[in-house]
Amino acid sequence: MQDTTIVVPTEIPFEIRNSPIQGLGAFATRFIKADTRLIEYTGQRLTPAEADTKYPDGADKRHHTYLFAIDDDVVIDAAVDGNEARFINHSCDPNCDAVIGDGHIWIDTIKDILPGEELAYDYAYVLKERHTPAAKRLYPCSCGAENCRGTILARKK
Ligand SMILES: [Zn+2]
Repeated sequence: MQDTTIVVPTEIPFEIRNSPIQGLGAFATRFIKADTRLIEYTGQRLTPAEADTKYPDGADKRHHTYLFAIDDDVVIDAAVDGNEARFINHSCDPNCDAVIGDGHIWIDTIKDILPGEELAYDYAYVLKERHTPAAKRLYPCSCGAENCRGTILARKK
């Protein structure tokens, strides 16, 4: 009889260190196959109203990198009770994707990843207001990908 139990690695297959994209980043410590569930994006669960109160957009309207909206009702604030997932940077040519389900966010790989490669997913951040050139400048991207769109904001359709 073959054992069909799915083995979930308890060891996180990446490490956190300085990134050429921005600040700290997550780097694979071994080969990771595509479609591997890496880690849950954890943090304090807030309503959008609570998140707005906690982080009022000041004059400089700085982006709060650790907020992640699950849906219209729940925002995860990884600045509180967050794990290593919060250090995974944005890329316009990502090798990971953020997958939302059952009120949780997971980071899954979408490509085979070599040891030492930086892990990144497309933040596709959405503002309430229009994504004007000025707004895009407030949310710049320096991922270095050939198809970099110059902002971590989502393309609006
Ligand atoms: Zn980019």
